[in-house]
Amino acid sequence: MDIEKLLKDHKVLLEGHFLLNSGLHSKYYFEKFRILENPDATSTLCKLIADNFKDKGIEWVIGPTTGGIIIAYEIARQLGVLCGFAEERAGKRVVGRGFDISNKNVLIVDDVMTTGKSVKETIDAVKEKDAVLVGVAVLIDRCGASLSFDYFASYKKVVKNFKPEECPLCKEEIPLKKLGGL
Ligand SMILES: [Zn+2]
Repeated sequence: MDIEKLLKDHKVLLEGHFLLNSGLHSKYYFEKFRILENPDATSTLCKLIADNFKDKGIEWVIGPTTGGIIIAYEIARQLGVLCGFAEERAGKRVVGRGFDISNKNVLIVDDVMTTGKSVKETIDAVKEKDAVLVGVAVLIDRCGASLSFDYFASYKKVVKNFKPEECPLCKEEIPLKKLGGL
């Protein structure tokens, strides 16, 4: 399957000159909600993750809010296991809502790995519940992450980000776009 084509067809992978939330500039932008709004396309990308972890004894799939909830639900559905999420409460990410993951084999999932911050927070939240962390998976890895766990990405594209003053796209005077609004 041509994942890059699927991402371009759904306008998930955009090429141009973009302002990221971090303030950095980039030639590529991943509009993740263009995939999450489409159950068929989301299911296709999630299947790669489910297939990768189907023999690993996963009992729970946990994702960070917001996109991670959708991914966790779909992968858990495909694996025939339970799903939950890690949400922010008072500045800290927690697995609450009575999700009973203690001593259970957990797969952590998220939509896009950009800095790894939300995945790292979710790892901490899952460990705090004494779960067994089996692996981490994302739909899109845009930073080339390497983790000390079993790690899988449905699609990987390492994208360079630039400080505004060092951005070659600014120097070419390509109009800067800000996307990903609420
Ligand atoms: Zn720029």
